[in-house]
Formats: sequence, structure tokens, C-alpha cells
Amino acid sequence: MHIAPDLLQQIVDHARRDAPDECCGFVWLQDDRAAEVVEVENVAHSPFRFEVGPSDLFALAESGEDGRRAIIYHSHTRSEPRPSQTDVNFAANWPGVEWLIVGLAGDGEPEIRNWRIEPDGTVAEVEVQVDAGV
Ligand SMILES: [Zn+2]
Repeated sequence: MHIAPDLLQQIVDHARRDAPDECCGFVWLQDDRAAEVVEVENVAHSPFRFEVGPSDLFALAESGEDGRRAIIYHSHTRSEPRPSQTDVNFAANWPGVEWLIVGLAGDGEPEIRNWRIEPDGTVAEVEVQVDAGV
């Protein structure tokens, strides 16, 4: 998927603001390009996991119409940006939805990686291309 630098920065800013708790939200894509970042409350308010409230989860149901789809983003403030077992378990409810994870654990720049988590628990990385578009 493609994302413009300013939208990516919005996600990183959200992650830093909510740290040490995990943050979460959606990135809406139009034809594989990020069109909008929607910040969502982590109702768990936890440094170890995130939980999207029911009304926000409802918005995900619109995914898949007219080339528009959502991916879920969240932060890992103390670990690598790879799906945790908790993430994999939760992802079973949302087959085919990609997971963008912002890792803030390192000293330097945040690390951003995107994953597809299959219902059987298989995790595959999906490339993120940061560019401003045409
Ligand atoms: Zn996670």
C-alpha cells in the first residue's frame, strides 16, 4: 500500500501522544493508497494491548465497497512492530484486514511495518511505500 508522508506522520504523532499506552485507529485506503487516517480510542488504555470500541468497530464493516477498505493501525511502545499473539487472536475476527504497527521501542525513528494476518494465524508482511503520490 502507498501512504503520503504527512498521513504517516499523523499515525506516528498519535502513537507518541498515547505512549506508553498503545494507540489504535484505521487507515482508509482507496485503491491501495491511504486516503484518510481515523484515530480511534483504545478503550483498554493499556501499554500491552488495544481494544476498539463497538461503535468504531462498526465502521470497519463498510470496508470493501467501491475499492475502499480499511486497515487497522496500532502501536507497540515496548516491543517490535510485529503482531503479538493477542493481535493474531483478535485478527481472526477480521480475515483479510491488514495491520499496520508502529514500533516505538527503539531509540531512534519509529519503525512502521504492515502485516496481513490470515485466519489460521499465518502472518505475512505487506510492503508500505511512503510517497506523496501524483
Ligand atoms: Zn499489537
